[in-house]
Amino acid sequence: MPKLIDAHTHVQFAAYDNDWKEVIDRSLAQNTWLVNVGTQKDTSAKAVEIAEKYSEGVYATVGLHPIHTEKSHHDSQELGNNEEAKGFSSRGEGFDYEYYKGLNQNEKVVAVGECGLDYYRLTEETKEKQAEVFEAQINLAAEIKKPLMIHCRQAYSDLINILNNQKPILGNPSGIIHFFSGTKENAKELLNLGFYFSFGGVVTFVRDYDEVIKSVGLDKIVLETDAPYVTPVPHRGKRNEPAYVKYVAEKLAEILGKDSEEVAAKTTQNACDVLKI
Ligand SMILES: [Zn+2]
Repeated sequence: MPKLIDAHTHVQFAAYDNDWKEVIDRSLAQNTWLVNVGTQKDTSAKAVEIAEKYSEGVYATVGLHPIHTEKSHHDSQELGNNEEAKGFSSRGEGFDYEYYKGLNQNEKVVAVGECGLDYYRLTEETKEKQAEVFEAQINLAAEIKKPLMIHCRQAYSDLINILNNQKPILGNPSGIIHFFSGTKENAKELLNLGFYFSFGGVVTFVRDYDEVIKSVGLDKIVLETDAPYVTPVPHRGKRNEPAYVKYVAEKLAEILGKDSEEVAAKTTQNACDVLKI
């Protein structure tokens, strides 16, 4: 099996409380490395804790997701179903710079995030709060010299404005735009800002991303599953896991008209370049 890297996944989430070791073993057994992405204090700490158990192949990112800057829809796959978790979702958290800086010092942490903007469900106050927390994480990434793992939903023009304003402090490469869903024009601006783009299971069942994938090109693409969500064909309807990232690689090869070994090798190289693995 060629080596693959699932650059954005969440095996530290509650959805894997009973079997995260088996899920990671299945992935490593087929030569697929993975990056568990934090979304708030607890999921960030757990991502680091898991990564520390492996000598290689399992990494973490640490950061505050834009939806957790205040009250959010409660996702039991992410946080579990206990009262404490529900309480967290009913308030969110303020960005604790020192806490995240501390966790980020760990050598298994390869990026700051997931951070960014999410306007899918929001109030006017949220926009300002999200921008402030995002800017704080851009500063943190600059201070500790790590790339950004960015989440953006229905907010690309504001995201690009913020990043353009912060351009002097962005790293090179600057990070990954996870589950990219913007336009070709957005992609071009983000390429100029030094970003890579990750695509996941959604490419196996909708054709909406084909053109943007071709315009970005293999040089700037990395693979992701975003597990436990968006499970690729042929496992639709089941919980996702990093071992399934191979289906994303195969589909990208088809879309780009390249062979899957080339896609595997290049996306792995790209992930290593941006995340300094
Ligand atoms: Zn994610």
